[in-house]
Amino acid sequence: MSRITAIETFALRIPRDEPYLGPLTDCTATNDGYFVRPGNKSVYHVADQCVLVKISTESGHSGWGECVSFVAPQAVVQIIDQVMGPLLIGRDATDPVVLYHDCYDLMRVRGFFGGYWHDALSAIDIALWDLTGQIRAVPLCKLLGGQRHERIPAYVSGLPAGDLDARVAKAVSWRDRGFPAIKFASAVSYGSPGTEMAALREGLGPDMAILCDMHWRHTAAAAIAEVAELHRHNLALAEAPCAPEDINGAAKVAASVSCPVGIGEELRTVFEFRPRFLAGCMDVIQPEMGRTGISSFMEICTLARAFHARVAPHASIGIGLFQAASLHASAVLPHLWLHEYQHSIFDRNLRFLSGDMSCDAGSFSVPTGPGLGVAPKDEVFNYLLSTEEAAHVS
Ligand code: MG
Repeated sequence: MSRITAIETFALRIPRDEPYLGPLTDCTATNDGYFVRPGNKSVYHVADQCVLVKISTESGHSGWGECVSFVAPQAVVQIIDQVMGPLLIGRDATDPVVLYHDCYDLMRVRGFFGGYWHDALSAIDIALWDLTGQIRAVPLCKLLGGQRHERIPAYVSGLPAGDLDARVAKAVSWRDRGFPAIKFASAVSYGSPGTEMAALREGLGPDMAILCDMHWRHTAAAAIAEVAELHRHNLALAEAPCAPEDINGAAKVAASVSCPVGIGEELRTVFEFRPRFLAGCMDVIQPEMGRTGISSFMEICTLARAFHARVAPHASIGIGLFQAASLHASAVLPHLWLHEYQHSIFDRNLRFLSGDMSCDAGSFSVPTGPGLGVAPKDEVFNYLLSTEEAAHVS
């Protein structure tokens, strides 16, 4: 028994040189830094925002968690500070799966099956698993079933550049550094997605895998046409072809195209994945550890095995704590394909972490040491989102 004595939250706002997916043109923006790109309806922030959670026990141990929260991180903070945190005080930190299910149950009859509620829970879940690893003095992957993979193969995600030639040159430089795969976003293509795909294939040669994130933009018919055009140049994955709610559309795409379809970065539980597996929506799942947490991630991956789907974990905005959790979980999986490598975020934020996590020559190292094997350094707390910033409305 290792009773929880404190749960602390830290909302961060870390400036970045260039917004996610490249320079801002013709964007709708707010004075507080949120923006929406033409052609991509989703909102982002010019800075990297995330929430860290620290859980401490009476035994003197502490564990760290983190969730995706680059939009309104204050919502996650409130859920944890006012509800989940106080309810977990006194519980045994080495029961992470039990506490995950208890927290999930707290709001299910009100219809909170995911969203901010589950994002907050994922940060807590990761911290509890980290704590359990610290207390038992073993790396997280050993707690989750054992380390099958020493290295985790990485695909390079996003090619921010000012024009198509620069974009192809960037892709070639990643290939030359040993990376086996690259992903571009058709929503921000130069020319048309087909033009960009053709240029990338010509520049990269036949061997490098090229994935395309279609950002949920299409009807089934339009997605089928776009994938067919891209697959003339050997597309390795069509990601998110249809709207997240369009189960029938995704199923139609998956049945009609001859390259693999991937979905799932926006889904958090087996309950959300199950109907999509039953409908035949995908060949590859892309769970995001910063939204699922570890307990749910492992459940989802077990479900994927039953449907013979491969796993290509998504990697979103954070300082690297949930990325470390994702690498540990990936290291266990027999059906792992590739792990996303968001180079512009991962490389820049590594300075905030202790530990030996890295990505080079085409793959990630799995951090060594107990639990996650990484922890925040003090300097990250220079970027706390202040109450004044959080309250800013213009
Ligand atoms: Mg995506």
